[in-house]
Amino acid sequence: SLPHVEVLVVPHAKGRVSRLSPTSQKAVASVCSCTRYTAMRSLQRSSQLIGALERCSLALSSSTAANDISQASMSTSAPAQSTAAPFSYTPPGRNHLFVPGPVNIHERVLRAMNVPGQNHRDPWFADFYKSVLEDTKFLYQTKEATPFIFPGTGTGGWEAALTNTLSPGDKVVCFRYGVFSHLWIDMMTRLGLDVHVVERPWGEGADEGALEEILRADTEKKIKAVAVVHNETTTGVTSDIAGCRAVMDAANHPALLLVDGVSSIGALNFQMDEWRVDVAVTGSQKALSLPTGLAFVAASKKALEAMKDAKLKRCYYDFADYLRTNPKGMVPYTPALALLHGTQESIALLRAEGFQNVVARHHRLAEGARAAVAGWGLQTLCKNPRWKSDSLTVVETPPGIDSNKIVNAAYAKYDLSIGIGLAHINGKVFRIGHLGNMNEVMLLGALCGVEMAMRDAGIDITPGSGVGKAVAYFHQTSKVIPTRESLLA
Ligand code: PLP
Repeated sequence: SLPHVEVLVVPHAKGRVSRLSPTSQKAVASVCSCTRYTAMRSLQRSSQLIGALERCSLALSSSTAANDISQASMSTSAPAQSTAAPFSYTPPGRNHLFVPGPVNIHERVLRAMNVPGQNHRDPWFADFYKSVLEDTKFLYQTKEATPFIFPGTGTGGWEAALTNTLSPGDKVVCFRYGVFSHLWIDMMTRLGLDVHVVERPWGEGADEGALEEILRADTEKKIKAVAVVHNETTTGVTSDIAGCRAVMDAANHPALLLVDGVSSIGALNFQMDEWRVDVAVTGSQKALSLPTGLAFVAASKKALEAMKDAKLKRCYYDFADYLRTNPKGMVPYTPALALLHGTQESIALLRAEGFQNVVARHHRLAEGARAAVAGWGLQTLCKNPRWKSDSLTVVETPPGIDSNKIVNAAYAKYDLSIGIGLAHINGKVFRIGHLGNMNEVMLLGALCGVEMAMRDAGIDITPGSGVGKAVAYFHQTSKVIPTRESLLA
């Protein structure tokens, strides 16, 4: 009967048992050694107990836990009706992950990360690390910038960008048009910078005209940086970084251009050298299609020059520590090696596809999603075509329909994860992420799920109305996958 017991132990208890005290662990072990009938029932109870313990952060004393579990193991009363712990059942097939990060990880990347513990001081590491660093330049389309890879996330990348280039009280101009631009502004304020915030309606992008006016008015050149979120993941809006650079040049302003490319770099067109971006930032769980855990940053020569006078406190994210070690293929502290193996593989995949093809694929996927939205008779939050994001599509729900119901139905019924509306637009929009390791058939699957979930939420959507438009668009624009041409010759 052991396999039956195992089935219950694995999803409900095993992962949690290790967090219990030794006495409680023993109690669970004793449950596992009961007869099959008793064990199955008591395990159901003990798994609930463990779940409850977990929820209250193991606040109960371990002896109470052990007692309760032992009592559960001896219980002969009838099992409760619904005994499975919440979310403990794993449905067949894949979870359909369509949030705008974290995104789907390619099998090749998963395999590349499946490495044992390794010593980064062994002789192979230096060449490996230097080549991964060099590879990341591809993402920013830069030959001139210096790349950094930090353990961290996009937020850590923001901190690196600010603290390495600015001093307390420095003036920074930033647009606020969603949660992520807001959080970056919040960080700037907390670091002691003097932020000139340009408020923009949510659903619109950076206003180059307003930026030019502000920069021209700054005759004493007090503004030290312009910080722009390239792709606002809250609203599905992509701002025009080349346009921002153009007005900075027109105003003949020397401010640094700092860009959050967290949901754009590796998916959308990004030209660090051509746009003369001074610091660019992204995170591993976005277009690079890796697990969360790395912050990728690139700094121009001008940014590294600014670093010499920058007085903001920095330590973990200090460029200087990396500049001392990286050229020798060394790192100032233990690198996230598995993630670096994944990075190498992920960039190899993007390189094989080609930068412009990656950008074109994202555009095509987004156009398909937008065709579906139009087919449903709905609208994207972003109305102006110049700002529509190719990384994600943010869909407005009709008045009176709570978009959270769609998101919940999608997950509850179809194992489809889509993004909720953030902050004050929660309940009014949902977000379909289509960046990173993604293709048209995957996206069509998600659009089918969204269509059904919208019907579940009470929107009178004709089945196939949106999906049909996306199918038509993808079919019209489809191309043979490289190296498979002979099959259709
Ligand atoms: N900037 C943008 C545009 C984002 O979408 C996110 C996260 O979604 C962040 C910054 C923050 O990145 P992280 O959550 O990796 O710290």
